[in-house]
Amino acid sequence: MASDAAPVLFWFGRDLRLGRNAALSAACAAGPVIPVFILDDEGVDRPLGGASRWWLHHSLAALAKNLEAHGARLILRRGRSCDVLAALAQETGARRVVAHRRYEPDAAAMQAEARRMLARSDAELDIVHETGRVAPEDLLTQQGRPYQVFGAFDRALKAREAPAERIADPTFSPPPSWPASEALSAWGLRPVSPDWASQFGEVWTPGEAGAQARLHRFLDEALQDYPENRDRPDRDGTSGLSPHLRWGEIAPDDVLAAARFRRHLEPGLEAQVAKLETELNWRAFGAYLLFHDPDLGRKAARPAYDKIRWRNDPVGFRAWSRGRTGVPIVDAGMRQLWRTGFMHNRVRMIVASFLVKNLLIDWRRGEAWFWDTLVDADPASNAMNWQWAAGSGVDAAPYFRVFNPVTQGERFDPDGVYVRRWVPELARAPAQAIHAPWTLPSGPPDGYPAPIVDLRETRLRALDAYRQALSA
Ligand code: FAD
Repeated sequence: MASDAAPVLFWFGRDLRLGRNAALSAACAAGPVIPVFILDDEGVDRPLGGASRWWLHHSLAALAKNLEAHGARLILRRGRSCDVLAALAQETGARRVVAHRRYEPDAAAMQAEARRMLARSDAELDIVHETGRVAPEDLLTQQGRPYQVFGAFDRALKAREAPAERIADPTFSPPPSWPASEALSAWGLRPVSPDWASQFGEVWTPGEAGAQARLHRFLDEALQDYPENRDRPDRDGTSGLSPHLRWGEIAPDDVLAAARFRRHLEPGLEAQVAKLETELNWRAFGAYLLFHDPDLGRKAARPAYDKIRWRNDPVGFRAWSRGRTGVPIVDAGMRQLWRTGFMHNRVRMIVASFLVKNLLIDWRRGEAWFWDTLVDADPASNAMNWQWAAGSGVDAAPYFRVFNPVTQGERFDPDGVYVRRWVPELARAPAQAIHAPWTLPSGPPDGYPAPIVDLRETRLRALDAYRQALSA
């Protein structure tokens, strides 16, 4: 039965789930809730990339269905978040908006703006701290400064007591009336012509149920060998949870809690769970760095690195982005990305090194390409990892460490299974030449290009350019 009490607006952000959603449960406990998602391309640093939009479409569809099963609806609106919320509060008589705290600089600024605008009409924005997350301003070194080194950050996170908070499932009571919602299909989040995402659905099931299914598959099939297999793109050795985490269809703490529970049931998984926690902490480190340095995606964290004279090489960039460089592991990664919206972490490191060092193309161009094509594109993780590859990040690889894609391929894809899967031209290449087909007496197989650069020469060229910039 509809309640007469003033409704509460619940503002979904990067927490597209009903289970273990502390802010949503708090809103539901306060009165009838109107769940809202706002597509805001105006109040953000940059609009979502294409692959993220595909994901968001399906994630919202799943969320709306889940809400309906709970007797509620998802109200969709487009525009500047603060304007939309103020208008919705007026329209529905809501005096309170509840949301999880956002940490990305643009989203945090929008929350502050929304709070000011709502206050003008006597409504309030109630920001709920995400369960299990340490506020970035509270996690500082003994000198009171932000951590700059991952190892120390990781230790500090691991040292904290993980609160075992119980979060009640949300129970919805309907508001006096439902405001109108825009149609998800009218948002045009999915690509049409060409539909480059046509194969994404074979790999991904966006939404909370998809996240839970992936988590349990990982715990059942991959956790045991995670430390050995996580670097092997030829094996199904990682969780594949990053796009689900990106949209908060599952929270990192819930992933960890589930892994710890598994460790409790099956002793002997200590090292595996510790490794998983470290990887999740890398994600937290990215968010932490972006919070303390809003320019993480725009400027080198070590300013001298912005003196590097990057090459303008449209032909090289095109070959890289299309997976036509003639270097098999690079091409396999870039094609996996195009076909599935995802790339294995080890291969991301290799293709990033190839772009930045062998092609000497500005890391920001690679970051932007990933932003558009990754289903897990995240402003913090993406920027941090690109700066890591470029050597310019606070805790990055030393600049003189240039990945050799041939030896990387031989080490992490020893039989060429990954390369053969994504580069069919090389399906029949002999194993000993799969990562360097130009060494075959007859050259690379028909249809596959010769390498666009000499790996040795371009490595030396990169070292030279870096040395010049850093000694200037
Ligand atoms: P798992 O091995 O199962 O790891 C579990 C979780 O830990 C991941 O889901 C992820 O949330 C986190 N994690 C693991 N490695 C990293 C890492 N190096 N940095 C941050 N978090 C990590 N990850 C993104 O989520 N979004 C991005 O935009 C992104 N861009 C990247 C760009 C480059 C150049 C590189 C080298 C890495 C990037 N990563 C990014 C990190 C990493 O590649 C992915 O998080 C990982 O491949 C996701 O696969 P998984 O979920 O199977 O990982």
